[in-house]
Amino acid sequence: MNPAASPPMTLEQIASCVSGYDPNALPVAQAREFIARLVPTVSGIESVAIRSALGRVLAHDVISPIDVPAADNSAMDGYALRGGELGADAPTRLRVVGKGFAGDAVGAAIAAGECVRIMTGAVMPPGLDTVVPQEFVRLDTNSDGDAISVPPGVVRAGDNRRLAGEDLARGEAALRAGRLLRPADLGMLASLGQAEVPVRRRLRVAFFSTGNELRSIGEPLPPGCVYDSNRYTLWGMLQRLGVELLDFGVVPDDPVALRRTFTEAAAAADAVITSGGVSVGEADHTKQVMAELGDVLFWRIAMRPGRPMAIGRIGTRPGAEGRVGNAVLFGLPGNPVAVMVTFYAFVRDALLAMSGAQVEPLPMLRAACTSAIRKKPGRTEYQRGIVSRDERGEWRVAITGSQGSGILRSMSEANGLVVLHHEQGNVDAGGAVDVLPFDGLV
Ligand code: AMP
Ligand code: MG
Repeated sequence: MNPAASPPMTLEQIASCVSGYDPNALPVAQAREFIARLVPTVSGIESVAIRSALGRVLAHDVISPIDVPAADNSAMDGYALRGGELGADAPTRLRVVGKGFAGDAVGAAIAAGECVRIMTGAVMPPGLDTVVPQEFVRLDTNSDGDAISVPPGVVRAGDNRRLAGEDLARGEAALRAGRLLRPADLGMLASLGQAEVPVRRRLRVAFFSTGNELRSIGEPLPPGCVYDSNRYTLWGMLQRLGVELLDFGVVPDDPVALRRTFTEAAAAADAVITSGGVSVGEADHTKQVMAELGDVLFWRIAMRPGRPMAIGRIGTRPGAEGRVGNAVLFGLPGNPVAVMVTFYAFVRDALLAMSGAQVEPLPMLRAACTSAIRKKPGRTEYQRGIVSRDERGEWRVAITGSQGSGILRSMSEANGLVVLHHEQGNVDAGGAVDVLPFDGLV
């Protein structure tokens, strides 16, 4: 299922659907679908040079103005001939009457019993439809000039010829709107002679960390405090998505400071991502201020790590009646591993959808787990793993040390997330599990 294809829902509709689930255990798949149906797509299109378009989202279909290739041409170095003249049982003898190089203009017509020496990429002479690779023929040179002898069966009519428009046909969509442009796409745009490409404007994403215990790099670290790491992992993950970043720093658990920062962030950005302060039952001001400034749902998701999360819209006018809710809020948990896991489970695809991209499911590997894993059905677990090949070339995955949601090292050492699905139970040593490799994800 592609949740992005489902019709949009209001926050109120989503809230009423969520009330049908266990309030302490909203399944990951449902949370993903609700988020996909909540987030709007940004408007705004700009035209950029193709080298600036890598990783950007194509705003319109690109229709090919030309056939690529423009004419039938040779796929091999060899001899161009008429396929109909090839003998079925005996060698075919043809006079070589010319030469065609890539880039040459179309040559003259060729008579029956004749062929042309041709190089890869050269336009096929009129009437000739087949190329026999040079290594298959015998070349005889005498006073009459060159002739070739083609043994029977080495080539069929039409072989080794590239047809005009076989890569891209004139009038056909070469690329579709919503495409996240990759290197091959830039090459394809260049092959159409297109210097510029219409892309969606970049998404603006504001982010900050919340917590009295957090210190920024460069500050002293008093007892009981930790350096803020979430803003750096978030920066890295967002940077990979190619969004515009607005770093609002560390904000203490203080209503005045939180109100000011949320208001400024919501005014400046399409999406606001926070970490910390969304745990249930916490005497935290973050949740209160979120609720006051926006329309926000506080979820407890059936997952580990990363259970608490806030999702909704946040306004620009503090406490005002009829507040304006114009930025999407993702309130992530505070624990460093939970931040990353919830980002990949929910935020990444939502931001891509907001950017106008067609979101495709990430490919997963199936790997044999080197150790047994205890797992209760009824929640999705994301364990950090190291994937490698075994002696037979099959994928295997080893779980990295401690899986505590505060142990960021487990994430740094891993090269993938082992995804233990909602209904899945214990895994035996050697049992197959799904792994989301970090390469491709980031
Ligand atoms: P919270 O969700 O605010 O209760 O935070 C949960 C845990 O994550 C606490 O141990 C916090 O100290 C820690 N934490 C929260 N935010 C950060 C951050 N930005 N960097 C590092 N650790 C954090
Ligand atoms: Mg906190």
